[in-house]
Amino acid sequence: MKNIVTTFSAVVCLTTALVFLGGCNAEKAMARKVDSLHRKMITIDTHTDTALDILRGKGEDELQVSFDKMLAGGLDAVFFAIYKGQGKRDDSTLVALADWTEEKLKAFAAYADASPKAERAFHPADVRRIKKEGKACVIQCLENGYMVGRDLRNVERFYNLGARYITLSHNNNNDICDAGVRVDNPKKGFSSELEWDGLSPFGYQVVAEMNRLGMIIDVSHTADETVEDVLEASAAPIIASHSCARALCDHPRNLPDELLRKIAAKGGVVQVTIYHGFVDKGDGTPLDVKLFCDHVEHIRDVAGVEHVGFGSDFDGGGGLEGINSALEVKNVTRELLRRGWSNHDIALFWGGNLLRVWEEVEAVAAKLSGTQISPVGN
Ligand SMILES: [Zn+2]
Repeated sequence: MKNIVTTFSAVVCLTTALVFLGGCNAEKAMARKVDSLHRKMITIDTHTDTALDILRGKGEDELQVSFDKMLAGGLDAVFFAIYKGQGKRDDSTLVALADWTEEKLKAFAAYADASPKAERAFHPADVRRIKKEGKACVIQCLENGYMVGRDLRNVERFYNLGARYITLSHNNNNDICDAGVRVDNPKKGFSSELEWDGLSPFGYQVVAEMNRLGMIIDVSHTADETVEDVLEASAAPIIASHSCARALCDHPRNLPDELLRKIAAKGGVVQVTIYHGFVDKGDGTPLDVKLFCDHVEHIRDVAGVEHVGFGSDFDGGGGLEGINSALEVKNVTRELLRRGWSNHDIALFWGGNLLRVWEEVEAVAAKLSGTQISPVGN
């Protein structure tokens, strides 16, 4: 009997050890696959608030994104936003704000240019080249069309300084359009009402100017009415740089299925964010990388795999369990592989879709100006 028990225990131990080793091997194989994918594909994050944090002097330890963290984590390209919350809209405020915006765009450009580890990108082909050179790719952008004020010339001014998208609004309406989140605050001139029922007359001019320049239009933060107007007015596809699915989290910052479909029909892309308030289903589902992937898969199912991507909002409130900095982006790839995503679809999600939209935006601009742009590489 003793012999039987001993033999049985040995078999159990051996089986456990084999299962454990099998698990370890499977984990190692998965890690190798994830690393290999990140070496080959382009990975892009379309929204971070890191730039102003860096300009304020925050150190590496306090930041979710840095050039070192991008390179170590396998995140190739990041859109670094200059952000301004909505404020007063009188002429002198707007003139000073445009000057402030120029100053901040220049200051962050100088910071990036001074680093041997990073390089700024101005066109999609730059992103591919900079990845090949092993550097962190920096793309500048503006979060809140408020910075344009009521002066159309500011759009080209900011484009020439390197900004490649403008989020048309932040929370509360501005001179371009209505925002999705609106609060009554008479002291600041804010109203919870729609002011323009979407785009303002000036907003239509801004959309046309961005089309002319080849600047990406970003509708995150804007009202549904604004998204509808932009989709109708824009000659080029558009993006939502950091938004989730409203079907899973009923928040005005998120996009309803109908708009997901319309953005896709226009050739655009919805870059899913990891801000807890926009992913939370409200049913106790843990706020982690799996829940983020639920939003990604919902948008894929509704809009198509060619119309979904990644926009973290790192250093602006973004971050979930398992995806809390640029160092952890591979956890998203790992989760998508576990869910059966193909390498091809994962590459579309991580950057292929966004680069396609950007190329199309530039092609439309070239067409509008009557010039041909040379085809980009692979
Ligand atoms: Zn935002």
